[in-house]
Amino acid sequence: MKKQPKRTRKRLKDQVIVITGASSGIGLATARMAARYGARVVLAARNHDDLRDVTNEIINNGGKALAVIADVADADAVDRIGEAALLEFGTIDTWVNNAGLSIYGKLEDVPLPDKRRLFDVNFWGVVHGCRTAVRLMKDRGGVLINIGSEVSDVSLPLQGIYAASKHAVKGYTDALRMELEHDRIPIAVTLVKPSAINTPYPEHARSYLRDGVPALPPPLYAPEVVADAILRCAERPVRDIVVGGAGRLQVAMANVAPRLTDKFMERAMFAPQRTHDREQSREGNLDRPQRDGRTRGVQRSYTMSSSAYTRAALSPASRLVPFAAAGLALIVARNYWR
Ligand code: NDP
Repeated sequence: MKKQPKRTRKRLKDQVIVITGASSGIGLATARMAARYGARVVLAARNHDDLRDVTNEIINNGGKALAVIADVADADAVDRIGEAALLEFGTIDTWVNNAGLSIYGKLEDVPLPDKRRLFDVNFWGVVHGCRTAVRLMKDRGGVLINIGSEVSDVSLPLQGIYAASKHAVKGYTDALRMELEHDRIPIAVTLVKPSAINTPYPEHARSYLRDGVPALPPPLYAPEVVADAILRCAERPVRDIVVGGAGRLQVAMANVAPRLTDKFMERAMFAPQRTHDREQSREGNLDRPQRDGRTRGVQRSYTMSSSAYTRAALSPASRLVPFAAAGLALIVARNYWR
C-alpha cells in the first residue's frame, strides 16, 4: 500500500495564513489573532480602505501582513490572492475561505439574481478558494479551512438562500476531503460551523424583510471565539467543528428530531431575526462592500466570549474520543460473536 505523504505540522508563528473576508467580523478577528501569534497573514476582501487600515495596524504592531483586493466570486481574482501570497511570503500553509454574506427575507420575496449572486460569493467563492489553495499547497501540504455555519446542517426561515449556500459548502468540503485523502494529497480539510456570532453580518445583509431590519437570533458568541477555533484547526486540523454549544445543540436536535426542529424553528426563528431597534439601508454588501472595519456588530444582545463546548471538542483528549468509541464498539462486537 502506498504510504500517505506526511503533512508537517507547523506552529502558527511559522505559518503563512490566507484569509478571505478579512476586512470585517470573523475574518478580521482571525487575521488580528493570527498576527498576534506571529503568523504572516494575507488578508483578502473587496474593501480597499478597511484592508489597508488593518494591514497597517498589524505591521505597526510588529506583524507581517499583506492586503489583496479580490471579489471571491471571480476565480481569477482568487488566483491572484494566492500568487500575491507566494510572491510576498514564498509559501502558504493555511487557507481560510471565510468571505460570505447573507440575504434576509422570505424565499418568495428574494429575487432570483440576488439568490444567484449570494451563491456566487458564499458557494462559488469557496470553490474558487479551494481550487487555488489545492493547486498551490498540494506538493508541500497545508490546511484548508472552509467556514460553513450551524446552518450547514440545519435550515432556518428568513435566511433560506443563505442556509442553502452553507449546505452546499458542507457538501463540497466533505467531497473534497475524501478526494484529497483518496489521492493521498497532504492537505487537511476542516469545516468550521459557527453558531450566531456578533459581527456586522446582519448590518451587511441585503434585506427583503417585510418589517424590521436583520438581526441575529441569540445566544451570540464573540467573533474571537471563532477566530480561536480556526487557528486551533490551523495547527491541529479536525474534520469539522461547530463553534458554540448553542449551535451544536441545534444540530443534534435536527438530527434526532427533524420534524420537531422544523416546528421549533417556525415558532422561534421569525421574531428574533428582525429588529426595530435601528434603521439601515436594504442594499447590504451583496454587490459592493460597506466600509466599517469592525469585528463586532451593533446588536446589543449578550455576547459570550468563550465556548466551553468548542474548547473541549478541540482539546487533544477529545480528539481521542472517536478512537475510544471505535475500540469499545470492536470489543462489544467481539464479545457478542463469541
Ligand atoms: P461580516 O459581514 O462581518 O464579514 C464578511 C466578510 O466577507 C467581509 O470581510 C467582507 O468584505 C467579505 N466579503 C463579502 N463579500 C465578499 C466578496 N464578494 N468577495 C470578497 N470578500 C467578500 O460577516 P461575518 O464575519 O459574520 O462572516 C464571516 C463568515 O462567517 C461568512 O462566511 C459567514 O457566512 C460565516 N458565518 C457567520 C455567522 C454569524 O452569525 N456572523 C454564523 C455562521 C457563519 P468586503 O465586503 O470588504 O468584501
